[in-house]
Amino acid sequence: MPAQLIDGLALSKSIRAGLAERANKLALRARAPGLAVILVGNDPASEVYVRNKVRACAEAGIASVLQRLDGSVGEEELIEHIRAFNADSRIDGILVQLPLPGHLASQRVIEEVAAQKDVDGLQIHSAGALLTGSPGFRPCTPAGVMKMLEHIGARISGSCAVVIGRSNSVGKPMALLLTQQNATVTVCHSATRDLAHHTRQADIVVAAAGRRGLVTADSIKAGAIVIDVGMNRSESGQLCGDVDFEGVREVAGWITPVPGGVGPMTIAMLLSNTVESAERTLA
Ligand code: NAP
Repeated sequence: MPAQLIDGLALSKSIRAGLAERANKLALRARAPGLAVILVGNDPASEVYVRNKVRACAEAGIASVLQRLDGSVGEEELIEHIRAFNADSRIDGILVQLPLPGHLASQRVIEEVAAQKDVDGLQIHSAGALLTGSPGFRPCTPAGVMKMLEHIGARISGSCAVVIGRSNSVGKPMALLLTQQNATVTVCHSATRDLAHHTRQADIVVAAAGRRGLVTADSIKAGAIVIDVGMNRSESGQLCGDVDFEGVREVAGWITPVPGGVGPMTIAMLLSNTVESAERTLA
């Protein structure tokens, strides 16, 4: 029997509907939640992500401000914009769209965002909060994956989970979130010797490597949950993940599609963090 589909688009819609209600309540009582998005340069993929985020904000009743900056902008000028948003009482969250052009130090720039407005959850402070299980904003993509697992009633505690990728924004926080829910987690990366050896043991596989076709049917245990975070382009230019969807769906118990899986959940979690930030500020 082919795997059941985890429909990230449908789940994100229901989450966003709930957020819209909360945003509306805030707007009636005080003001709408506000998100500032800073886009440096004109990377086509970033343009699409930012457009989707701005549109999702509008649909959820979140006021977004898009600050576009030239790709050659200096670090000081970029930081001045961040500081202005830090001081703006209508702004509850600040998102610096990554990747930044090579001459800008991403982590240094992100650290300039006021901690209470770090809705992307990528600051060192937020990472520390995640590591220690303290309150704080969680990075949106792994938080979205956890919501999907919760939605399907996945038994995480005691499970064997494999996370492919160890980036600060996806792989590492994903491993921590799964560990907090009592999964036994293996983190794989480009130096992992036999990836399939690890994934074959896993009840849950989260693929976040950015490598098309990396996860194939013969590397997945029957009935496993397979979450595909990857966003790649096929030779014909179509969006695809890291998982060979057609093959793996014949073996897995659950699978996320690309597109329509983790992507929409990432946006829903960004909006969720923004509404939460506004609720805290306006309490
Ligand atoms: P990243 O910073 O490039 O990290 C990729 C990770 O994958 C690295 O840790 C790398 O290992 C590992 N890796 C690369 N090739 C591998 C291989 N052959 N076997 C095992 N591990 C391998 O990327 P990222 O920002 O984490 O994003 C990962 C993917 O998710 C990308 O496709 C990105 O577009 C996508 N993404 C999607 C969403 C969404 O909302 N759907 C959000 C964020 C990212 P090393 O550390 O050893 O280099």
